[in-house]
Amino acid sequence: RRSTFLRHDEDPTMSEPQREPYLLRREPYYCPVGNEIDVFEAAHAVRMPVMLKGPTGCGKSRFVAHMAWRLGKPLITVACHEDMTASDLVGRFLIDRDGTRWQDGPLTLAARLGALCYLDEVVEARQDTTVVIHPLTDHRRVLPLDKKGEVVEAHPDFQLVISYNPGYQSLTKDLKTSTRQRFGGMVFGYPPAAIEAEIVRHESGVSLVLAERLVQMAERSRNLKGHGLDEGISTRLLVYAGQLITQGVSPLEACRMALVRPLTDDPDMLDTLDAALTTLF
Ligand code: ADP
Repeated sequence: RRSTFLRHDEDPTMSEPQREPYLLRREPYYCPVGNEIDVFEAAHAVRMPVMLKGPTGCGKSRFVAHMAWRLGKPLITVACHEDMTASDLVGRFLIDRDGTRWQDGPLTLAARLGALCYLDEVVEARQDTTVVIHPLTDHRRVLPLDKKGEVVEAHPDFQLVISYNPGYQSLTKDLKTSTRQRFGGMVFGYPPAAIEAEIVRHESGVSLVLAERLVQMAERSRNLKGHGLDEGISTRLLVYAGQLITQGVSPLEACRMALVRPLTDDPDMLDTLDAALTTLF
């Protein structure tokens, strides 16, 4: 025996991880904007780690879910945050009545299962947390579990996908160059108007005419980015507005609640956006 630790497949306290709970049963609706499906399939074929860049609510998570379904692979998603530690990703020993027991974190589980592992908003995590992905994202494709004394070899299907919003970056919150350069990058933005209206119609059930109007409102707000707004109205918010309208809320009221109020607390900007709304609805 090399060490006092047991390998995962020798450890009687650990059951074989199951793919089943992480497989998507139904196709997540995704409306392509360009050739992103083909490009991602090619990246998956060579198991290239992929970085999805783009503003919040523009379809990145939906795209990953759709691709996992299309490729028939399990999907494990982690919402990253600043208090996240490497153990939250990799795993830790837990103490229970029977003693100590190792519990895999989501990254380890994904590596064992051969899942797509989606680290959402990865720059939120501290840089010393992010480095645990390094050995998984080069030719080694391994994940050392230092505390457990095990090196997990990634399943051949394993692929890492990360997302981030370049708009929010500051000097203290950015990806290290050594992390960045392990990924291929795909840029996402809000879809072109006609596609975005179709998405809003599909997701909320409003008429296409109404969906087009919602998109016009979003475009006006997006033009204010950098002129008092950090970010314009996202596709996600448009879907919320549409859903409120389908519930019987008046379009004006629905847009105030779903599109305008969440965007800003600045009274002048709220007035400007409300005025834009009344010209459209
Ligand atoms: P992100 O991960 O970029 O923050 P999401 O993927 O959660 O954003 O997208 C928010 C919502 O917008 C989705 O739940 C979906 O309703 C809708 N959406 C955005 N883009 C698309 C698209 N291309 N196809 C289908 N739905 C989309």
